[in-house]
Amino acid sequence: MIRFSHGAATSVGRVRQVNEDRFLAVPPLFAVADGMGGHGSGDVASSIAIEDMAACAALRPLFTEAVLTALEHANRHIIERHSETRMGTTVTGLAGLETAGGDHLMVFNIGDSRVYRLAGHRLEQLTVDHSEVQELVLAGVITREQARTHPRRNVVTRALGSESGMLPDHWLLPAISGDRYLICSDGLFSELPDEAILPLLAAGAPQQAAEALVAAACDAGGHDNVTVIVVDIDADDDSADETTLPREALPLGKQPGEGW
Ligand code: MN
Repeated sequence: MIRFSHGAATSVGRVRQVNEDRFLAVPPLFAVADGMGGHGSGDVASSIAIEDMAACAALRPLFTEAVLTALEHANRHIIERHSETRMGTTVTGLAGLETAGGDHLMVFNIGDSRVYRLAGHRLEQLTVDHSEVQELVLAGVITREQARTHPRRNVVTRALGSESGMLPDHWLLPAISGDRYLICSDGLFSELPDEAILPLLAAGAPQQAAEALVAAACDAGGHDNVTVIVVDIDADDDSADETTLPREALPLGKQPGEGW
């Protein structure tokens, strides 16, 4: 059994009128959705996504296909709600899977919200953004740091609510006690470089770290809504860190560049 402790914080920021980010933090499922759409419909899309994710948070044991099915349902529900305005949402997160082969974490992503892992003192972005600027980074046209402030950084190339056949990326990782995960909307990393995120993420309990990161993004400008979930993998008393998986993520989902 994977033991989690977590904290979460969200803010409308200092510029926007409405917070269109939504999140779910119900162990073993954690997700952030960043809604977009005209006439204030973005928060409708992100709310639908989180409601569909919440329905599968109650499943025991939670399994990969259940999470993927919840994402499919959310996609369909958002498309069904399209009226005169199109709307969509990113969704990214972490699910604890209790499988026969051991305890695993599933990381999933559609859009440009992100999951990072802090292991030791190393911060690693696990998800790959579905965005125009990410494609420019992969092509070597701009650097990762230039992408952070690029004028077209908000153009998402994949989102829930965009097309019926849409597939999320997903990865499976071993659950290792001591690792800390960060799930966040782009309002965090658009304002703060990794070097600023790392010390705030590493300090204190999960709730303290989540609040410190949101406050820092607002202090740095708060141009967008910002949402942060911090999740710790806690030591399990009766099973030490026996894992047969390598630490590296195993790519199980569709990979960037495969087309969708
Ligand atoms: Mn955003």
